[in-house]
Amino acid sequence: MNILVRLFYGVYMRFWERIKQGCYEYLSSRGYTCDVCGREIFDYPSNRLCDDCFVSLSKNDGKVCEKCGRQTLSSGICLTCKRELPKFRQGFSPLVYRAESASIVNRMKNCNPRLALWLGEAVAEYFLANYADIERFKEGGETLLLIPVPLTKSKKKKRGYNQAEELAKSICKRLQEYGVQVELRTDVLERLRDGEEQKHMGFADRHTAVAAVYHVHKRKECRDRTVLLIDDIMTTGATGSVCAERLYGANAKEVLFLTPTALPEQK
Ligand SMILES: [Zn+2]
Ligand SMILES: [Zn+2]
Repeated sequence: MNILVRLFYGVYMRFWERIKQGCYEYLSSRGYTCDVCGREIFDYPSNRLCDDCFVSLSKNDGKVCEKCGRQTLSSGICLTCKRELPKFRQGFSPLVYRAESASIVNRMKNCNPRLALWLGEAVAEYFLANYADIERFKEGGETLLLIPVPLTKSKKKKRGYNQAEELAKSICKRLQEYGVQVELRTDVLERLRDGEEQKHMGFADRHTAVAAVYHVHKRKECRDRTVLLIDDIMTTGATGSVCAERLYGANAKEVLFLTPTALPEQK
């Protein structure tokens, strides 16, 4: 009898722990605490970030490069684009890449994929407000093809997720809420191998370094489609440019590049 009681008690406690864990995950994923610093916030469900964290981020709301979308010092296109025009048609980034946004993106990438929820929403809102042809994709029109920049299979397995894919899921959801027709595909573009460290390379070197590692696996999915390519950050724009080149090679009609944050124009 004693054994039966202990067994029942054990099952009951495990069940209760699962319920508590489930509730915690649900509440924390719905924004009762700041996604960045963990502080409690009370204006649910409109915010995922507390006021301090939100204010500390540098928004890309001034002059932007007409081509790649990074913050610029004057109107027109940025110096990076003047040196080598990226292959995507237009880039969009709601945040300027500085210490605070870098910290969020790095945490999303390395340990906290949940940050992709807020970043994805910010990207989607910015895109809706700044992409001139958005009406083309409303009911009865075209369907946007959402493609996250892929990781190699081994890297994704090691990390447990691909941050660009997590962003794309959030972007997809928010665009659909606004009546935009979207299809998210993670099987169209592939990354075949890891390239060398690119941090200190210029655009041309990066372009060469990454050119061979991306491959369009399902070419017919791209034919005559408008593609929204998603990545976590735009530095030189070489990754976006190379992926766009591959997608155009598979007959995509137009490739747009979306990232939560982009390096500002460098003097
Ligand atoms: Zn905060
Ligand atoms: Zn530019």
